Amino acid sequence: MAVSDHVDLPTFMEGVKKRNPYQPEFVQAVQEVAEDIFDFMADKEQYHAQQILRRIAEPDRVVSFRVCWEDDAGKIRVQRGWRVQNNNAIGPYKGGIRFHPSVTESVLKFLAFEQTFKNALTGLPMGGGKGGSNFNPKGKSVREIMRFCQSFMTELYRHIGADVDVPAGDIGVGGREIGYMFGQYKRITNQFTGVLTGKGLEWGGSLIRTEATGYGAVYFLANMLATKGEDLTGKTAVISGSGNVATHAAEKIVQLGGKVLTLSDSGGFIHDPDGIDQEKINWVKEHKTHRRGRIEDYVAAFPNATFVAGQTPWGVPCDVALPCATQNELLGEDAKMLVANGCRAVAEGANMPTDLDGVHIFKAAKILYAPGKASNAGGVAVSGLEMSQNSERRSWKEEELQQMLKDIMLGIHQSCLTYGDQGGGYIDYVKGANIAGFKKVADAMLAFGVV
Ligand code: GLU
Repeated sequence: MAVSDHVDLPTFMEGVKKRNPYQPEFVQAVQEVAEDIFDFMADKEQYHAQQILRRIAEPDRVVSFRVCWEDDAGKIRVQRGWRVQNNNAIGPYKGGIRFHPSVTESVLKFLAFEQTFKNALTGLPMGGGKGGSNFNPKGKSVREIMRFCQSFMTELYRHIGADVDVPAGDIGVGGREIGYMFGQYKRITNQFTGVLTGKGLEWGGSLIRTEATGYGAVYFLANMLATKGEDLTGKTAVISGSGNVATHAAEKIVQLGGKVLTLSDSGGFIHDPDGIDQEKINWVKEHKTHRRGRIEDYVAAFPNATFVAGQTPWGVPCDVALPCATQNELLGEDAKMLVANGCRAVAEGANMPTDLDGVHIFKAAKILYAPGKASNAGGVAVSGLEMSQNSERRSWKEEELQQMLKDIMLGIHQSCLTYGDQGGGYIDYVKGANIAGFKKVADAMLAFGVV
């Protein structure tokens, strides 16, 4: 019989910090969740006695491995690869693979932790995981990227499987990289299974997977605005990023009658006062994805726009904001600026783009603020639908999938209302998402006993 173990939040966080030295992103993600969960758990003895939060915040396993590959000049390169399998209480581990020089064990542990809650919120049977490497695809030839992906999979294949762990894309990993990794997995194992999602349509991929994260974030934003009797018509939007999530979020904003003012990359942001319409979005997609160009080139193509080097776009006045680039790209000062300029709603397309100061500022201002684990869950949700289609060995129609995506985003919004309604017309979406995600995983863990 487990004895009660009521530590308070500061003591719990001290333990997390001590056990995870030099892992600030992971500690930050745990703190953001713990701030809400401690309140919720106050009168729930079982969760304390069974140390549920402590267990969710300790990955099931972290696999770290060497990835060697040969560059075009014949030089041998050595990178580090990881797969963090955080929790599989409600389904196989599921989450993307990130290739970016900023990738560390801390970053992947925070992402796998967040993914656990996000995946639970979708209502689909998926646990949480994440993987990646500090490999920098920028400036690499396509053959180099292929060789890297093959080498990465040559180790990763032994840790994954359609019922074990199903990776997908993330920053630096799109359809092309998934293709190289799937090809290598199939070659090694001689099995054609749904071991990865984000696959090409010819070989088991799902329609709308590419669009799903960005579209889903805007559906969630529209759901939030609807609680105030508003919609996106005529609203100005500031968006960061210019990859898959940002461009599809922009596309959906435009489709729903909004005006997109900005996009960005690591070099700075562009501000187009005329609005970034579908034709311009198509140009960005082509330029960033296929030509692997820089966002600053936008101003040569569309001269009414300006490029601001080395800055994020949060100082541009707007009605709604969508951070769709990367973690900690929107800091406390930025949050203050957005609120002061009259921004009414923020929906995160990236994972943990707002730092803890920023989160506290949005909460204190009581604006409509959705954390990534709720608003960007559309991507992994369609990945879950891809897994179902692979199991059934069939492909669903686009209209069916669009409707399922909308329903899932509405379901997540409803879960946030259930646990985040603070009365007086204020919904704390962070709290709602944290509690709803936690409860599902926690109750499954209780059923399994001490494992
Ligand atoms: N990387 C995406 C995310 O952050 C998608 C993961 C997936 O489809 O498995 O949710």
